[in-house]
Amino acid sequence: MMFTYAPAPESRSIVNIKPSYGLFINGSFVDGGSAFKTINPANEEVLAEVAEATKEDVDRAVKAARAAFKTWSKLPGKERAKYLFRIARIIQERSRELAVLESLDNGKPIKESRDVDVPLVAAHFFYYAGWADKLNHAGFGANPRPLGVAGQIIPWNFPLLMLAWKIAPALACGNTVVLKPAETTPLSALLFAEICQQADLPPGVVNIVTGAGATGAALVDHPDVDKVAFTGSTDVGRHIAKAVAGTKKKVTLELGGKAANIIFEDAPIDQAVEGIVNGIFFNQGHVCCAGSRLLVQESIYDTLLESLKRRMGTLRVGDPLDKNTDIGAINSQDQLKRIKALAKIGSEEGAEAWSPPCELPRNGFWFRPTIFTGVSQAHRIAREEIFGPVLSVLTFRTPAEAIEKANNTPYGLSAGIWTEKGSRILDMADKLRAGVVWANTFNKFDPASPFGGYKESGYGREGGRHGLEAYLAV
Ligand code: NAD
Repeated sequence: MMFTYAPAPESRSIVNIKPSYGLFINGSFVDGGSAFKTINPANEEVLAEVAEATKEDVDRAVKAARAAFKTWSKLPGKERAKYLFRIARIIQERSRELAVLESLDNGKPIKESRDVDVPLVAAHFFYYAGWADKLNHAGFGANPRPLGVAGQIIPWNFPLLMLAWKIAPALACGNTVVLKPAETTPLSALLFAEICQQADLPPGVVNIVTGAGATGAALVDHPDVDKVAFTGSTDVGRHIAKAVAGTKKKVTLELGGKAANIIFEDAPIDQAVEGIVNGIFFNQGHVCCAGSRLLVQESIYDTLLESLKRRMGTLRVGDPLDKNTDIGAINSQDQLKRIKALAKIGSEEGAEAWSPPCELPRNGFWFRPTIFTGVSQAHRIAREEIFGPVLSVLTFRTPAEAIEKANNTPYGLSAGIWTEKGSRILDMADKLRAGVVWANTFNKFDPASPFGGYKESGYGREGGRHGLEAYLAV
């Protein structure tokens, strides 16, 4: 799908951030209980105060979604499609505003929010708009029905994109939703709420409740929610799976990862280095499917490491709104602490850290792009999700050893293979226990492709036709 995009946004004046925001319930912004502050992680300035939804607020939102479900679920698919197409077009029209807001609240470089996040968000709404009137006779059973009210909880790393992954398929199938964005990145979801108003979406079809974990828990526990869709950490996912066990609720979980990016000696080195850099430094490494374990064939180790370090030396770390920035701010103080703690453990366990020299801004939350060499499979930095710009480098000699090491993780979300041999790609892809396997590329997403994990990376698939099954009683 081709889109034409507006020129690069260059300043925060493009977006009108209000001093405070209420909850979006039944088509209107309403007061919530107390408020919390959301800050710009690049300079620690407060961006806005946002309402913290209580259990009673969540109940109001679920009731609104239940009431809206009666009519929304009965609309002909082609009518629901019109709303989704309208939302998609408004997202394109307001793409500069959305991109700037996302970079301000999240810390990601504007060239990523402008060229990756927001275009993919629009693409998801277009894609699922196209499905809304084609659900019958599409292999979902004779008369596929929506599940009802979906409670959706998303993380902070791709706030708007995770929202699109959740809301677009749910609405296409005739469900109504109550979505809770992450507490450090609520603003783009609230701008999306304005877009729903602009698109004349019937009240109650989309409700946004902002708040921290307790708000999410209230949504998961609400007895009138039919489906829980969660993206976030494996720990919280485990908790949610227990909370919904034995209830009527269906659940999908998209959790953490520790992907292997495997480089064979016949790989085109320059291309592979770009793929490694994109795999781990895209979005500051705040990516569930990040290529955080580099597996390099021993024979090319020295050459590859030299090229990788040279390339890392050209990465620009700094102001997320600067169009030339490659690596923005870490999303929160807490996340920065987690990254620093695991990096410290890496050094204490005997691995060697290297970062290119680069000056970091004085305020805000920053971490240099870092690689660890001399990493063994037993090291915690080879096993645990760091969720930051930190790469653990390991080596292998044979394809069998690469498979063994790549699969030696509790996670199973994604993997990458770099080789000129097509037969090897097919063989490896078959043996890797990962929901997504990229060949000679990394971190490529498309609304038509299903995404999801094995093992402790969760269950269920989002995206593509599979993403619809999660919202239909089939
Ligand atoms: P998190 O689990 O701390 O929080 C995710 C969301 O859950 C937030 O909105 C949070 O407020 C909410 N939450 C927290 N406690 C809750 C509870 N008890 N009940 C209900 N909701 C609760 O994760 P995070 O730090 O925001 O995100 C990072 C994690 O997300 C990483 O592990 C990453 O791998 C994962 N992730 C996975 C995917 C995927 O598609 N598999 C995509 C993006 C991120």
